[in-house]
Amino acid sequence: MSESSNEVTIINNVVKHSPFHVTNEKSEYIFQRPNELGADCQIVYWSVTKPMYMVKDIHTHNFPQLLCFFGTNPFDMNEFDAEVDLGLGENGDITVITKPTMITLPAGYAHCPLNFRVINKPIYFIEYMYNMPKGTYERNVIRKV
Ligand SMILES: [Zn+2]
Repeated sequence: MSESSNEVTIINNVVKHSPFHVTNEKSEYIFQRPNELGADCQIVYWSVTKPMYMVKDIHTHNFPQLLCFFGTNPFDMNEFDAEVDLGLGENGDITVITKPTMITLPAGYAHCPLNFRVINKPIYFIEYMYNMPKGTYERNVIRKV
């Protein structure tokens, strides 16, 4: 974990089958937990190729998060032909994402629903969860939607 390890961690087989959400044709994602990374963070990297309602319930976590929504065209990083609805705050007030965007959520901040409503061109959704207490993942539902 984060107990100031002096060891280098190299992980080659990072693409896995997703048991959670089907965001693309192969149902693949990149996901590494703190114990796999040897750090107090985890990362989830989704390739979203079709519309999907990923998370409905408004909830909080016991760690901060960085949410990234990026286009997939390496020759035009501003290309983003999608619309993503993200609820922010305890009322789930919707922010509509229509361009490459990064959002930081403090620990305990209510968020979701998360709806990849329009996907005209594939996008990447990257969740970086950090400062995880002892590498633990907590999710507390505030309200079912
Ligand atoms: Zn969450």
